[in-house]
Amino acid sequence: MRSVRIWRCLAGWLGACLAATSLDALAAEYPAAPTRLAPGVYARGAPPGPPSPANRGRTNSTGILVGSTGVVVVDPGPSRAEGLRLLRAIRRLTPKPVVAVVLTHAHPENVLAADTVAGRSAVVVAQARTYALMRDRCSECLQRLIGLAGQPAMVGTNIRLPDQTVGDGVTERVWGGRRVRLVATGWGHTAGDLVVFDVASGTLFAGGLVNREVMPDMHEARIRGWLAALDTLSALSPRRVVSGERVAGKRAAVASGRAEYRGDDIRLIGMTRDYLADLLARVEATYRQQGSVFEVLADGELPRYAGWVRYGEAQPLNIQHVYAELEKEDFATR
Ligand SMILES: [Zn+2]
Repeated sequence: MRSVRIWRCLAGWLGACLAATSLDALAAEYPAAPTRLAPGVYARGAPPGPPSPANRGRTNSTGILVGSTGVVVVDPGPSRAEGLRLLRAIRRLTPKPVVAVVLTHAHPENVLAADTVAGRSAVVVAQARTYALMRDRCSECLQRLIGLAGQPAMVGTNIRLPDQTVGDGVTERVWGGRRVRLVATGWGHTAGDLVVFDVASGTLFAGGLVNREVMPDMHEARIRGWLAALDTLSALSPRRVVSGERVAGKRAAVASGRAEYRGDDIRLIGMTRDYLADLLARVEATYRQQGSVFEVLADGELPRYAGWVRYGEAQPLNIQHVYAELEKEDFATR
């Protein structure tokens, strides 16, 4: 009986993989032009991952802050071609130069356009552990992204390591007349998570820590650190939140329970937190009773989130990841 349930689970996963191709059709719902959120504050959405030739590897939101003398970019994107598209979009907003590019974490979809977008005029900034991860694995990540998005989408893409790093905690910077707080939240989605808080508008660019109805990617996450990071984000009391991966407006109503979901408000932090807390509780309940990971997989559905993008694919992986984290915690205390 249990094996039947596991197979059902795997069949659901496979189904989600096949359905992922229909995500490519979603690309049309994400306009190339950035959306204005507040004076001088823009976000450019992207269809959720995985990277593919149809989305050209662009699966994460990009932030654009226009100050009195320059522009700050948050997460420039996956490639030289997408970096050039972003620069053209910025040129339609303002003639001011890009003066800073902030990388929220070391995933290739977020960082590989940094060289193109920053050029010679801008500084590229990341948390110190993101610098180390990029130094150690970016060439491998670039090859992986070429494999997923295709060579034509990635042609001419150069790896640019951050020019400056910040440590843990809060670092305040003024770039191009725009005051931002860079908040390093510890190891959550990745080891070097960094969020960007625009002081004037109260806008928080949350990088990989917050998604909008898209399953969190946990392949290198620490779930307890991620939960703590989300508490740190809530404590910033942002006026609005720009999530890393997001469902476009007219589709986003599943977990909110409302017909229309207006903008990326701070409830997104709570939605991502609820999922992680429910996942941890579900895995921990079986683990503490000496149950195997297969038992969690066989009965690990969280129906509240079943409408989120990648649910069928990601839920078994996230269960396995959290189970392994609990084992590591136990070994560390022995
Ligand atoms: Zn990520």
